[in-house]
Amino acid sequence: MNTIALVGNPNSGKTTLFNALTGANQHVGNWPGVTVEKKEGKFNFDGNTYKIVDLPGTYSLGAYSEDEMVARDYIIKDNPDIVINIVDATNIERNLYLTTQLLEMGAKVIIALNMMDEAKARNISFNIDKLSKKLGVPIVPIVASKKEGLDNLVKKSVDMIKKSESTKTNISYGKDIDEEIDNLKNLMGNIDLNYPSHWIAIKLLEGDEYVHELISNNHDLSSEFVNVMDKVKDNTEDYELKIVDKRYEFIDNAINKNVIRPEIKAETTTDKIDRILTHKWFGLPIFALIMFVMFQLTFLIGEDILGELVAGGMEALGETVGSFLESHNASEMLTAFISDGIIGGLGAVFEFVPLIMIMYMFMGILEDSGYMARAAYVMDRIMKSLGLHGKTFVSMLVSFGCNVPGIMSTRTLDSKKDRMIAILINPFISCGARLPIYSVFISAFFPHKGGLILFFLYFLGIAVALLMGKIFSKTLFKGESSYFIMELPPYRIPTLKNILRNMWDKVWGFLKRAGTVIFAVVTALWVLAVLPFGVEPYSEASILARIGSFIAPIFKPAGFGTWQASVGLFAGIVAKEAVVATLGMVYAGVEEGAKLITAIQGAFTPLTAMSFMVMTLLYTPCAAVIGTVRKETNSHKWALFTTIYTFVVGWIGAVLVFQIGKLLGFS
Ligand code: GDP
Ligand code: MG
Repeated sequence: MNTIALVGNPNSGKTTLFNALTGANQHVGNWPGVTVEKKEGKFNFDGNTYKIVDLPGTYSLGAYSEDEMVARDYIIKDNPDIVINIVDATNIERNLYLTTQLLEMGAKVIIALNMMDEAKARNISFNIDKLSKKLGVPIVPIVASKKEGLDNLVKKSVDMIKKSESTKTNISYGKDIDEEIDNLKNLMGNIDLNYPSHWIAIKLLEGDEYVHELISNNHDLSSEFVNVMDKVKDNTEDYELKIVDKRYEFIDNAINKNVIRPEIKAETTTDKIDRILTHKWFGLPIFALIMFVMFQLTFLIGEDILGELVAGGMEALGETVGSFLESHNASEMLTAFISDGIIGGLGAVFEFVPLIMIMYMFMGILEDSGYMARAAYVMDRIMKSLGLHGKTFVSMLVSFGCNVPGIMSTRTLDSKKDRMIAILINPFISCGARLPIYSVFISAFFPHKGGLILFFLYFLGIAVALLMGKIFSKTLFKGESSYFIMELPPYRIPTLKNILRNMWDKVWGFLKRAGTVIFAVVTALWVLAVLPFGVEPYSEASILARIGSFIAPIFKPAGFGTWQASVGLFAGIVAKEAVVATLGMVYAGVEEGAKLITAIQGAFTPLTAMSFMVMTLLYTPCAAVIGTVRKETNSHKWALFTTIYTFVVGWIGAVLVFQIGKLLGFS
């Protein structure tokens, strides 16, 4: 099967094209840094099947960040049959920089000139044929979001795959460097280095450490080559500057007269909106206000209106199933398992589907419109003043969905220090799975302050993350942060499709977890709740209660030292949704048919509800997140550290809320 790789700058529309070609549902976002892993898909054309790979977006193919390494490794090692280089037509100069590096690699390249609709709206015009000749690469104009030009793109790509010759570059780096490249290439001779010699020569001159190491480990190379290489090493900075310069010269020369832009750059609508939304003083309050309104609406629509409907449905279902089992003389055990465990536990989780749907609908709108990128931009100054990298906040925005991709997106951070800090603080960001927990407690104790409390919790999560980040940057990971300029994409009208996809992604993920992990947790805990045989299920004598009671004293200072709360928190380490499911089960069993809300009203107070919510926000993240920390840091030590320190932070937070609240006279 032939393979096609998609390469392009972040936010150039790679994922949109990938989805359009394969019919897949990858996450599309109007901001950089969304796709961090390569994604594979397939499509058919003319009776043949092609594999297509969506690589992480990068501006260059150096060895500076993991994204760049993933993309360039793939192109060089997996040797795709063709590389479709997506170029944002509204930003062609910068986008073509990546193209020059693809050419240096000797990849077979075709350019998909995307966003032609936006370019047209901005009066940018192209002489495609001449531009294509100058660059030495075929160009196909497309509008990925409207699927325009895709047939042509696929047809041309397939034609190129069939032809054997690869794309030739004619970038000149000036006489001296060109000679040096030729010299190195000659000295490499026919030795198989797994990489094109032209590329290796350029990378050596640029001082690419990875390539340098690779070459140093090869003992077939002549001593003469090694001598030249060592000589080159002293001048890499100089060479690198010149090479970068020449790449841009090549681009300028190609687009000169072939890309025509309006003379005076009028202030665009995006500029006008940004004058307000990214304003030095108003930017942050506006961000806070937008989030506040979002949480208010989320709670109003998702919980008060739709949530009630689903809850009513679940109740009716419980009754129907209950009487069905009764009329069929099902064993007491089975009836209890189904009505307490499944309907009481899992059902409690399902009631939150509307809430999650609405929340991610709003998040989707904010993201797809381009606002989220502004939020990160506005936060950048705060991040800097704390000694944190601006991209850390970008990863935190991803974490609002789920901490796993949030932590993965830290791969776009270049320095090890910045990245480690970002990984360690992301678990404090409130993910979608924690939403049901807040929702239950809010409904039980603060029914009219839902939006306000959600707002408080989400901001508390951010604040604690930033505080810990500051502490880490002063203690564990010292050193300079690298420089960052947040790129602001133009505002776009969010597409319904992207918003629905975003919503569906979340809801489906939620349902899938409910059906697997959470089901398993609830079942296992249910068994512990009715064992040993003969005890009153869910009583103090059950194994579950005894385990819970053993942990419970830890939480006394936080006000919720009950075995039920302890068991719930324990289950939350497996998956955060399991907290509500577990509470639903343990409380449903106590009093036949008791509603979770009523049971919680009996077991907690407004103050302990608050401290419990703070605990669930901050304490140890779920197993999937800990696994991701381990994978991304490549160390068990850091995974263990995360498990423990977040627990301690959560515990301190909950205790502070409870103790201070008590001092202030709350109960
Ligand atoms: P990626 O980062 O390269 O994967 O880019 P995405 O596929 O996530 O797209 C970034 C943004 O550009 C999204 O909001 C898309 O809806 C939007 N987009 C993609 N292609 C086009 C296009 O041809 N025209 C317009 N106007 N928007 C597009
Ligand atoms: Mg993408």
